[in-house]
Amino acid sequence: MDLSVQMMERLRTNPECFIRQQIKEIVCTSPDNRLSFMNGYKILDEPLVKFADGDDPIFMEYKTIIASTHLTPREALAEAYDKRLEEMPARLSVISYILPIMDEARRSNRAETCVPSRLWSHSSWYGEKFNEKLRSYLVELLISLGYLAVAPALPPYFQEYMSEEGLYSNWSERHIAYAAGHGTFSLSDGLITEHGIAMKCGSVVTSLVLSASRRVMKNPYANCLYYLSIDCNACMNRCPAGAITVNGHDKNKCLKYLHNMGYIPAQIEIDGYYNDKTIAGCGLCQTKVPCESRIRRRNLRRYQIKRDLPRVIDHKNLHNLDYPTRRLHNLLRLRILWYHKSDCADSGKVKI
Ligand code: SF4
Ligand code: SF4
Repeated sequence: MDLSVQMMERLRTNPECFIRQQIKEIVCTSPDNRLSFMNGYKILDEPLVKFADGDDPIFMEYKTIIASTHLTPREALAEAYDKRLEEMPARLSVISYILPIMDEARRSNRAETCVPSRLWSHSSWYGEKFNEKLRSYLVELLISLGYLAVAPALPPYFQEYMSEEGLYSNWSERHIAYAAGHGTFSLSDGLITEHGIAMKCGSVVTSLVLSASRRVMKNPYANCLYYLSIDCNACMNRCPAGAITVNGHDKNKCLKYLHNMGYIPAQIEIDGYYNDKTIAGCGLCQTKVPCESRIRRRNLRRYQIKRDLPRVIDHKNLHNLDYPTRRLHNLLRLRILWYHKSDCADSGKVKI
C-alpha cells in the first residue's frame, strides 16, 4: 500500500485524524459500497469513527455481561498473532466505526410491516459485505504501516454460540461501539448512536496508539426514550414477531421470525443472494421509530440540564414541573404516539 509523504506525516502527527480520513475515503469511494444494479446507489453513509483504549476495564466487564468467551482486545490480538497476552505491546487501541444506513433505504422500510423492503434487504446484505471488506482493508493498512492489527469479527476469529437466551458471539460489535462512546443500548437491543439505530458497525484492534474517545453517557440506556420514562414503545409496535416487550428483546423469537422469513445467512452464502427475492435482515424495529436516525432525547435533556432536573422524569410527578418543561415533555410523548399511527406511512406524512 503506497502512502504519500503527506499522509505519513498526518499519521505521525495526528493518527486519529489519519484513521478517520482513511475510513471516510473508502466509504465514499469504494464500488463495494454501491449497488451496481441500482444505478450505483450508495449503501452506507459517511462513517462516525471513535476509539477505545484496548485495556479499558469495560472489556473485562463484558466477560460477565455477555459471556466469559467474549474476547478482550488484548486476547483477540494475541490470538491472531499466536502469542501470549504479555507478549503484546504495552498499549493497544480499538478503532470502532458506525456506518449509517442511507435515508432512501430507511424510508422504504418504514412502509413495511412484515418483511423488509427490497432496498433494506440489499442494504443489509451488500452493506455487511462491504463492512467485511472495510475491516480487512483497515487491518491490511495498519499492518503495511508496521502495526499489529486484527478484526475479531472476521473469520477465523469470530465465533457464535447459542444459549437459552439466544445467539451471542465472542466479539459484539455493538458492545465495542458502546465502549468507544458511540451511543447507548435500546429496548430493542440496538445501539442508538448520533446517527440513530439504523446502522452497521465494525471494529479493528491495533497496536497503533490512539487517544480514546470519551463515553459521554453515564447510563448504558440513556439514548432510549423508553428508559427515559417517555413511554416510547414504537419498536414494540413495529416488531411483527412480538419479540420486543417491556422486558426487552427476545432474541429467540426474533431469530425464529427471521428464519421463517427465509433469512439464514449461512444458507444464503451457499445458495447466493438473489436481488429479486432473497430476504436479508428485517430492521422493522429500526425504522419508523423515533430513534431511527438520531438521538431524540436531546431537547428534553437540554431542558433538564438548564433547569437542574433529574434525567428520568416520573410521569406521575409531571405536575411538579414548570410549564415549559411539562410542555416539552408532552410534545415528545405526542410525537411518539404519532409514529404509532399505522396509516402514517401510507398517507406519506412520515417525516423523521
Ligand atoms: S423506538 Fe423508542 S423504545 Fe424503542 S429503541 Fe427507539 S427510543 Fe427506545
Ligand atoms: S429484527 Fe424484526 S423480528 Fe427482530 S426484533 Fe426487530 S422487528 Fe422484531
